[in-house]
Amino acid sequence: MGRGRISQSFITKLLGMVDIVQIMQMHGIELKKSGRAEYKACCPFHSERTPSFYVSQDKQLYNCFGCKASGNIVTFLMEYNKYSFPDAIEYLAELAGIPVERDNDDGNTDSSINYSEYYSKMRECSELYARVLKDSSLPQGISYLQNRGITVETIDRFKLGYAPPGWQFLTKYLVKDPQTDLKLLSDLGMIIHKENGGNIYDAFRDRVMIPILDRRGRVVAFGGRVLNDDKPKYLNSPEMVIFHKGRELFGLYQAIEYSKQNQGNLPYLVIVEGYMDVIALAQAGFNYAVASLGTSTTTDQFEMMFRYTKKVICCYDGDAAGQKAAWHALQTMLPSLKDDCDVRFAFLPVEHDPDSYVREFGLTGFESYLEKAKPLDEYLFEHLKNNLVSENSRRELANNALDVLAAMPNNLRFDELIRKLATISFQDSTTLMKECSARKSLRARTNYSRQPQQEEKEMEITPIRRAYALSIQYPKSVIAGKDTIAYLLRILGELGNIKGVKEYQQIFNFIVEYPNRSEISVNTACILSACKGTNIEKWVTRLARADIYGHADNIKTENVTADITATLSKLVLEHYEQRVSKLQNESMKRELSDDELKELSDKVKYIKKFSGRTITADNTDF
Ligand SMILES: [Zn+2]
Repeated sequence: MGRGRISQSFITKLLGMVDIVQIMQMHGIELKKSGRAEYKACCPFHSERTPSFYVSQDKQLYNCFGCKASGNIVTFLMEYNKYSFPDAIEYLAELAGIPVERDNDDGNTDSSINYSEYYSKMRECSELYARVLKDSSLPQGISYLQNRGITVETIDRFKLGYAPPGWQFLTKYLVKDPQTDLKLLSDLGMIIHKENGGNIYDAFRDRVMIPILDRRGRVVAFGGRVLNDDKPKYLNSPEMVIFHKGRELFGLYQAIEYSKQNQGNLPYLVIVEGYMDVIALAQAGFNYAVASLGTSTTTDQFEMMFRYTKKVICCYDGDAAGQKAAWHALQTMLPSLKDDCDVRFAFLPVEHDPDSYVREFGLTGFESYLEKAKPLDEYLFEHLKNNLVSENSRRELANNALDVLAAMPNNLRFDELIRKLATISFQDSTTLMKECSARKSLRARTNYSRQPQQEEKEMEITPIRRAYALSIQYPKSVIAGKDTIAYLLRILGELGNIKGVKEYQQIFNFIVEYPNRSEISVNTACILSACKGTNIEKWVTRLARADIYGHADNIKTENVTADITATLSKLVLEHYEQRVSKLQNESMKRELSDDELKELSDKVKYIKKFSGRTITADNTDF
């Protein structure tokens, strides 16, 4: 792909300009102060009652002692918001108010296309289709929508459009610079290149075009609906650079915008099956419907919904397909089902879909139907009971239920469901709990995604590693003591061959040369980012996690500076002592040279002077 890669040095710079604490708070994570620059909260990535999710403002890193989730603000945005890597970087760059910097691949600037060009090309397509929809010489699209009762306001609100018949519509109107534009359109899946012969044609023809917006309101894909009963009814954009169908929900942007303009919070979200359902409901005044994009709803999509609201209603058609979709949805959401999530299931009468239902019974009719939606546990056990095959049904029920419940996190909700299962299957709840745990650990061994990494062997903290670890974890202390540390590093360098000194020098240089751009400035996340892909990455990552002070509060910058310089001083003196005893041994075997004698006496004096103290650069009469 020809687009320039975001440069690593840019990411490093960005990590020194944004604040992880502030951004997490913007995302609704309730961080409580638990130390000078440390915060804690209940983990957003697993279900828990007492906080084990720690965020360090100094380090700009987070770490969960429960599920082992850890990382910097970029990994947080990717995990929490389901952003792609470039999206996370762009989001942060926008916050910091600076443009994203990219490397040109192999110096070929012409071929580098960046993300914003993809987004603006998609917007051009969307605007063009919207204009065509209202073009009286091509009335097919608008009359289809009018027949379905869609008003002009709704058309504008959802930016609906029409892709006319014909093969070269987009190439005719949207290609000015063939080299760039053709590539953009083809990367986006809007035009198709015939392999041999070089034919190019539009992917969407004679369809009503429904733009799919991401959570920032940008067009990232289209759903194109045929105007007659041809199959398939819908053609969707393929997965590509800016579109991952499992991570977007049709209607979510509009629902969020609507709630922002109104009470501020989304009271709930309703998943329906089709785009036209979302649109028809919105037209009827129901603004909380979303639809997945031509696939069943994914775990990512459920997690996304739970970020905006705690209540999700799955609304499906009453037919067999609807039943199947609902059961699939339930199984998909169980792994992310937290104690405070309220999930319900509504099945419409067989002859209806949300579109026809709201048309017949109006907004209040639809809303009161939703009020009767079944809570998750009711639906779960009812479905299981209806699908029993054997005579010994209580045991079978318990077995089938445990298979499903084993996907759940260990939380209050889980305990409650097991107790309910015990009651309806006449089994002992402790036994059921045990059986379920066994299935859980089997699952964990076979396919659980976020497994705690294998515990690393405890690392021995040698003096140089201590100084190294402290410098990575508290880089501001390095800046505060940079003259003394530079001096000590020079002596250590001259002594030669002390393991780790060269690498420490690298980190030291990075820290003191890091430009001071904001109050966040140099931090552990920056250092980790700068070391990415270098020979010291592995070490730096381990040392960044090394536990030097435990969970001590109130660690002062000047105390850490003193610790680093004392540690390095000790190292210098140790090596001097070794050298002194070596020279003394030599002197018993042979006459020492004048230089050696001078070195011996200097070093002895030096050791005497600084023994048990920190070496300082300024009082050295050496
Ligand atoms: Zn966690």
